[in-house]
Amino acid sequence: MEAHKNFIAGAWVEGDGTIRNVNPSDLSETVGEYARASAAQTTDAIRAARAAAPKMRALTPQQRFDAMEFVGNELMARREELGELLSREEGKTRAEGIGETIRAAQIFKFFAGETVRQAGEKHPSVRPGVEVEITREPVGVVGVITPWNFPIAIPAWKLAPALAYGNAVVFKPAALVPACAWALVEILSRSGLPEGAVNLVMGSGSVVGETILSDGGLDAISFTGSVATGKHVAMKAVESHAKVQLEMGGKNPFVVLDDADLDTAVGAAVNGAFFSTGQRCTASSRLIVTEKIHDAFVDSVVAKLKGLTIDHALKQGTDIGPVVDESQLDQDLRYLDVGREEGAEVAYGGTRLNRETEGYFLEPALFTGTSNAMRINREEIFGPIASVIKVADYDEALEVANDTDFGLSSGIATSSLKHASHFRDHSQAGMVMVNLPTAGVDYHVPFGGRKGSSYGPREQGRYAAEFYTAVKTAYIQP
Ligand code: NAD
Repeated sequence: MEAHKNFIAGAWVEGDGTIRNVNPSDLSETVGEYARASAAQTTDAIRAARAAAPKMRALTPQQRFDAMEFVGNELMARREELGELLSREEGKTRAEGIGETIRAAQIFKFFAGETVRQAGEKHPSVRPGVEVEITREPVGVVGVITPWNFPIAIPAWKLAPALAYGNAVVFKPAALVPACAWALVEILSRSGLPEGAVNLVMGSGSVVGETILSDGGLDAISFTGSVATGKHVAMKAVESHAKVQLEMGGKNPFVVLDDADLDTAVGAAVNGAFFSTGQRCTASSRLIVTEKIHDAFVDSVVAKLKGLTIDHALKQGTDIGPVVDESQLDQDLRYLDVGREEGAEVAYGGTRLNRETEGYFLEPALFTGTSNAMRINREEIFGPIASVIKVADYDEALEVANDTDFGLSSGIATSSLKHASHFRDHSQAGMVMVNLPTAGVDYHVPFGGRKGSSYGPREQGRYAAEFYTAVKTAYIQP
């Protein structure tokens, strides 16, 4: 099998080894071989982006529009093929894979529109006869480092604004999911952007990632991944004076009040906690439930989980695909043990499943009888595992919801406008959902969190301009 190459300075180049991309639904299937970039090639990619930066800056808004629209159109046209590829490398169901590809297309189309909507501001000066203008310019060269759990949407929501606002990019996808990243860059390579504007360097965090962080040749670094890596990225970015944006983990609370519509609450909780195999930074991992509805809620969630099919991601009827790889599966199983040792009860699930194909299948698990102090409620597990925390009333629910190091997304199920509004105003999360799952967001509005979940300007929508542009204030005396 010939390896898919890295894309550096407008050319496809071999690496110094390959990454075997394995299907987590069927370990006997190799999705593809992907070239591993060396440190020297990563440096070449950064130099190429640096050389392309003035050309990117010089493009007209129409040229940027055309490139973004070209990518959006092709992603949309190939959504089934690329969605399936995504499911094969990451383990999401076919519907989820196609949905994510459509989302990537929508993001490129949104930023196509933004290329022709970049206005400045004109202000009167406090000094007579002087004019003040505020304009935005590209930051220059942006390093993009992405995680494995959204193999096409996260690269899209970083690459599209980076390029739309006129920057050159060095892109390092997670080593577990190079296929979607490669496919996206292959489309970008035909979009009419200048040579060197987009560079793809596949490989490990320790070689490719570290080279990006240590080079000093980047103006900005956008990172999504774990808290530990994110903190390291931030320190290195500060050292080299690069602008930095981090999106990291979550321990998202979903509050269910006595007055909630039970079906709505259960539907949102099951979707938020377990779909996409629970491998979403916005997954509902802490289900905080008031006393009177507690038992009915737990019974209904368990009944719903019993009806779900966990199997090969591409099999007709599968609701939940496999865990992404062995080390994530080990982590999930370890946390199931930790929960039991801490005294939590397993109300449902948690066993590894055998299916026709050999894969990392795990029954979704629901813990009950848990307290917010337990490790399973404080640390991100990142699997199809959620805990129920019983509370007395809304006030305690809010307190528990906010008692966490994270602050990405939160949710509440209630029919009380008073509690919904209060929760919206007092939840210490960047995104708040009422009668909706904590996961599942729009592409045209800001995405991001607070506390340990995020750092730096928001992603997505028009707010992306904060990160991918530099503001200039000009004083003019005509
Ligand atoms: P990770 O931190 O292990 O890796 C993320 C990326 O960083 C990968 O490309 C990896 O190769 C790279 N990397 C690793 N070490 C590096 C180093 N020393 N220098 C430079 N780069 C390095 O995270 P992951 O396991 O791929 O993803 C899961 C995590 O991502 C979870 O914590 C999840 O919550 C988080 N996540 C957050 C969001 C969000 O928007 N908040 C979205 C999706 C995922």
